[in-house]
Amino acid sequence: MFEAAHAFFTFPDRVFAYECRGCAACCKGHGIGLDATGGEVAHLTAAYPAVIAFLRRRGDATTAFNPRDRCWFLDDDQLCRVEREHGRARKPASCRLFPFNRIYRLGDWAVVDYNSVLCPLVVGGAAPVAHADVLAEIATVDDPAVVGTRLSNSDDEGRELVERERAIASACFAAAARSDLAAGWAAQTAAPLASVDPAFRALLDRPWHAPDPATLAHCLWLTPSLRFNELYGPRHYAPRDRLVALLPAMWLAWIGFAALGAELAARPLGMQELTTVWSEQAPLMLLAARWDQVPRLVGGALDTAPDVRRLAAAVRENSGQTLGALAAPILSEAAPAARAPIVKLAEPLLRAAFA
Ligand code: SF4
Repeated sequence: MFEAAHAFFTFPDRVFAYECRGCAACCKGHGIGLDATGGEVAHLTAAYPAVIAFLRRRGDATTAFNPRDRCWFLDDDQLCRVEREHGRARKPASCRLFPFNRIYRLGDWAVVDYNSVLCPLVVGGAAPVAHADVLAEIATVDDPAVVGTRLSNSDDEGRELVERERAIASACFAAAARSDLAAGWAAQTAAPLASVDPAFRALLDRPWHAPDPATLAHCLWLTPSLRFNELYGPRHYAPRDRLVALLPAMWLAWIGFAALGAELAARPLGMQELTTVWSEQAPLMLLAARWDQVPRLVGGALDTAPDVRRLAAAVRENSGQTLGALAAPILSEAAPAARAPIVKLAEPLLRAAFA
């Protein structure tokens, strides 16, 4: 079991409240992670023998398949039948931990993250979740496959990540309490506050602008988790040491898209919405972050979508111009509604051009 001193929580202590409204989104389609070494398989199969047919292995983890639209144990009243019939302690481990069930190991260090897509966490609710309570829940789980997806065996990598990101998180949370954009930027880099305005103008014919204070505060509360997930998630836009330097400008672009989303919704955006905005807009955030950098394309043909071929040719023939200088005229000639789709299709090109 890891010690609190070696853990980085991507969420603030006693700020997020988990107010279950019985939406059951967490009980739909993700399988049930079981504490196999803690005896959960034995208990569940004894109580519900038919589940034996649906057990499976995912790496080191034992999980029970459940249908995508509804867990076997989700009753019509949206409550968990395992909990109802056997008590909360018998509920599968991944369900007990949810939404703080994304737990990772790097050497002796740990990251405790949360699911901000499925769970409607709120800021400042009646019963904010304490780090100590999450640690206590984690301590009830024996199976390292449930409470320790291993990202690295390196203690040095773990220490570097935890010490850097813990300091950033602490400053972002302080900035969130004041909806302070400049402080959120300064939390992530010593560089002067950058501008992603030229990319926004080229894409959207309008300037970048900050969102309303409530949306901005939600962005800042989320920032440590989204940084971690970008660094260790599947996109791999760059090796981590270079991605760390790119993240602040990507973040700034995300803040601009959050403002546009709030404008569309005609209300402040919550953390669930902002998480999905980050995922969806990632290629555009990458374009904005790389805007002043010089792309190079070497090697064989890149399989690009037809709409991207002009930009690909410009990058291939490039002799020192920035991505912005190459992309701006091409975007300006495209219909406004075609620009964001072109950049999203250009994601493989943007990766290759800065590999
Ligand atoms: S076992 Fe219970 S809490 Fe877990 S997914 Fe199924 S219904 Fe939800």
